[in-house]
Amino acid sequence: MQVTQNFIHKFAPIYSSCNLFLTLTLMNLSIDKSWTLFIDRDGVINRRPGAHYVSSWEKFEFLPGVRKAMALFSNMFGRIVIVTNQQGVGKKMMSVGSLRRIHSAMLREIEKAGGKVDAVYFCPDLEEKQDNCRKPDRFMADKAKNDFPDIDFNKSIMAGDTENDMLFGKNVGMTTVLINTNHFSSPDEMADIVFEDLISFASSLISNDLNK
Ligand SMILES: [Mg+2]
Repeated sequence: MQVTQNFIHKFAPIYSSCNLFLTLTLMNLSIDKSWTLFIDRDGVINRRPGAHYVSSWEKFEFLPGVRKAMALFSNMFGRIVIVTNQQGVGKKMMSVGSLRRIHSAMLREIEKAGGKVDAVYFCPDLEEKQDNCRKPDRFMADKAKNDFPDIDFNKSIMAGDTENDMLFGKNVGMTTVLINTNHFSSPDEMADIVFEDLISFASSLISNDLNK
């Protein structure tokens, strides 16, 4: 399991005055039911569709270990929210109805495995649209906070596979976890914590919990 951990940016101003080397681990975060997990979809939950879009359930393929990971997360976090850019809708390569059907089927599979997701937010806008709702814009985070006022961004983790996911999390003060399915060469520069896949992240949380 590849686990690298980085200094958390939001704590840097507090700790930078100390001449101590501090490694912030997941254990330091003390994740409990007051925490929220925001998760990206493509490349994290399901296999990235390459140049195409997942336009039907038949094209949706869970990545290995994801259903188990989602069940583990559901036991630890108070809320789980999926946030996904889906400009295939804006490009008219799929309808909002098709996207909703894919998400319903995805949630059914996650629930069958013992997981629970509170909401799925998607942005159908084209990248070139001005003032679009796509990550890294905070639009979907604010929408989630509006729907679930108990969400605290300072007690939230954003897990995703791109720089935009990490910027989205940083924009609202979340801790960022890069799921490095893109094999970025310097992932530590992008995120607070890096894992190679979602199940490694979930397993790490479990082992921390056992050590409490
Ligand atoms: Mg992605």
